[in-house]
Amino acid sequence: MEIFLTLDYELYLFNPGNNVDQSLIDPTNKLISMLNKHQLKAIFFVDVGYLVALSKQKDNYPKLASDYIKIVQQLKYLESQGHELGLHIHPHWEDCFFDGNKWKMDLSRYKLADYTKPQAELIFTKYYDALQCLSVKKIISYRAGGWCLEPFSHIRDAMKLHGIYIDATVVPGGYQHTATHSYDFRNYPSFPIWNFNMDPTIVDNQGCFYEIPCTSHRLPQLHYWKKIINVLFRPNHKDTLGEAVKPTIKEVFRKLFFKNIDAVSIDSNKSNSLLASFKYKEHEQDAYYSVIGHPKCFDELTYKNLDIFLNYALKRGHRFIIFSGNIKKPNTFN
Ligand SMILES: [Zn+2]
Repeated sequence: MEIFLTLDYELYLFNPGNNVDQSLIDPTNKLISMLNKHQLKAIFFVDVGYLVALSKQKDNYPKLASDYIKIVQQLKYLESQGHELGLHIHPHWEDCFFDGNKWKMDLSRYKLADYTKPQAELIFTKYYDALQCLSVKKIISYRAGGWCLEPFSHIRDAMKLHGIYIDATVVPGGYQHTATHSYDFRNYPSFPIWNFNMDPTIVDNQGCFYEIPCTSHRLPQLHYWKKIINVLFRPNHKDTLGEAVKPTIKEVFRKLFFKNIDAVSIDSNKSNSLLASFKYKEHEQDAYYSVIGHPKCFDELTYKNLDIFLNYALKRGHRFIIFSGNIKKPNTFN
């Protein structure tokens, strides 16, 4: 199999901490030194809304200026080392600001679907330009923030305009509807890659876009039971790096008692299922396997399970690749 190691390079949604070193710089460096041992390359989907928000206010706050420089330097370094940068859009940053002490988050317009199509296209273009500006190589891939790809028609023209021919958002079989998030991938193809034109739910071999989905699997209910026990018995525990979106009661109930489809991930406890999921897909002989991770969520389990996975996959002759140079632009794109 050919394996894509993809990372969402971003802060937490709620109360994102102010320690950029802890949430982004250090875990990314640790990951890179692991990958260097095997000379492997990864794809980093950069939350450009955050970069734009930093850039807007950095002249007023030295701390933001220093965060901005650290991040830009790291992204440039990653690219110079052969890793790839992709566009990741969390448009809620349009409504967020730094008050001199911390980020004031407003998630009322969390996804591009919360904007009109012309507004969504302007945001897409602004974020694309900001990322392309700091990147030597052409940006060719996109991943929607919080998996909120729908409706694709909102961004289709903007992707085409900017030469982005790969979407890497879909988690086949996954779905979620909350105050912030909304997507339903239950009726999407479950191939490791497919072409489409106007609508990613419809395979079109002449289509000008590729969907390279995050490989999905059924995450055992035990994972969520462990998580809830952790919350109940450690009520004062608060992650210093920030907080994720709180699931609704309905969501919690579904996760504890019903089948859960999730992206295969190297984050924290989720990484415990990585090897088993990979072996299953290896048996199925899929052409591609795409793993996701978030540096903000890395812990010792991540590094341990990732190391086991890398060694296993390499020993079995699988290849880790990036999109650039391997997934050619479809002839029908132009
Ligand atoms: Zn994200």
